[in-house]
Amino acid sequence: MRIAVISDVHSNLHALQAVLGAIDADAVDEIWCLGDVVGYGPRPNECCTLVRERASLCLAGNHDLGVIGTLDLDFFAGDAGAAARWTRAVLAADARGFLAGLEPSGRAAGVELYHASPRDPVWEYVLGPDAALAAFAVTSAPLVLIGHSHVPLAISLEGQRVVGGIAEPGHETDLGPSRRLLNPGSVGQPRDGDPRAAWLLLDTAAGRASFRRVEYPVALTQAEMRAGGLPEMLAARLEQGV
Ligand code: ZN
Repeated sequence: MRIAVISDVHSNLHALQAVLGAIDADAVDEIWCLGDVVGYGPRPNECCTLVRERASLCLAGNHDLGVIGTLDLDFFAGDAGAAARWTRAVLAADARGFLAGLEPSGRAAGVELYHASPRDPVWEYVLGPDAALAAFAVTSAPLVLIGHSHVPLAISLEGQRVVGGIAEPGHETDLGPSRRLLNPGSVGQPRDGDPRAAWLLLDTAAGRASFRRVEYPVALTQAEMRAGGLPEMLAARLEQGV
């Protein structure tokens, strides 16, 4: 089975459309989304519609839960809170209903999936070896998928230690025999210094994972954010990929 894994779309419709175009050119069987469909960006309703139509599995992210009121927006600092309030005000009923039906963790095809981390599926950032080791310790599946940090990661458990880290664009890794912890990076707000939208292709038959990037019209999303009155810093960061 060929599975496209996407995460952290963050209401960036142009990035999502570019990623779906690349996925459609790649003969993929299923699309899995690791959450944060909304927050930060200008097109939450269209992104919810597309993800609901296209993804066979979708998790809830912290921004999704904040926007629908499951999480208190006091937990969201500065621009993230402002964007969550903006999103609440424009969110359509069907998009709200879609987000309200999602959970921050899941399991499919023998893979464990979490928005943030296995020990805290909503908030914990897994960026270093300690958090990665903890993620392996509280899971058992050969493959564990996470999002939330917006940084692509390819980490393996070798004995008692973790190997790997940030996955460069085009990076490919085997899916065995060691256990793997992978983060596809972010579709709508990459933070690894590369502004291109990120996604991950899993080929379970071949036992391979490939980290993909695709260009999208960043300026269009920025123009929509400025026209909608979203915080300028959130628009500016998209062209840097930070
Ligand atoms: Zn996010």
